[in-house]
Amino acid sequence: MRFLIAGNWKMNTDRHAAAVLAAGVVEASGGVSEVDVVICPPAISLDAVFGEIHGTSVKMGAQNVHSADSGAFTGEVSVEMLKSVGCRYVIVGHSERREYFCETDESVNAKVKQAVAHGLVPIVCVGEKLSERDSGRASDVVTRQVNAGLADVKISAADELVLAYEPVWAIGTGRTASPEQAQEIHALIRKLLVEHFGDAGKDVRILYGGSMKPANAADLLQQTDVNGGLIGGASLVADQFDAIVRAAVDVSTD
Ligand code: PEP
Repeated sequence: MRFLIAGNWKMNTDRHAAAVLAAGVVEASGGVSEVDVVICPPAISLDAVFGEIHGTSVKMGAQNVHSADSGAFTGEVSVEMLKSVGCRYVIVGHSERREYFCETDESVNAKVKQAVAHGLVPIVCVGEKLSERDSGRASDVVTRQVNAGLADVKISAADELVLAYEPVWAIGTGRTASPEQAQEIHALIRKLLVEHFGDAGKDVRILYGGSMKPANAADLLQQTDVNGGLIGGASLVADQFDAIVRAAVDVSTD
């Protein structure tokens, strides 16, 4: 399966810095044809970033979307708005949005349905908190998040959807899930995807996220069901992000 390496810039970079970073990503990783490369800048800079990536192999995603077509939802952006500035992807249900912005499995599900129905590829984030892992509930939590997040979602091809396993205890902490811990949950997500989508579920990509860095990327990407990475901190430095992209190229051509 083709790896997908996505950078989540979170609330970092102003418009100018975002354009400079995007240009750096294009310069470093733009010539890579073996791996899909996606960057997800803040909404305010999507337009500026698209100006840098347009016509290159680098694709763009947003970090959030609303589940309605349009209307009285102050401060929100719709799927069509994101598509109109060049987005192909959107991160949905990131743990920071679940934690700080009250997103629930139900609101995540509504966003996933809206994105898929209108041709924007959601990167659906799931993952347990440290207390949930320590009490042996990681699999239960991820099962609930996947099943609720994907309820009644219909895809006609595997590339209409991406999942991301992001253990909350590994995000921005420098603490990474071991390759075995990642594979165990990725295999569970694969099983759930096949239950939801049949054969198409075998080819939906499952990214790992949580302190993925150049130094640990290859070990994680070598796992059977790890089909790429969702990168936070390391995506803010074009060379570090590129080193992860190169690790993906090396693993895929091994
Ligand atoms: C993320 O927030 O999606 C993430 C994986 O962050 P980091 O790489 O910084 O842990």
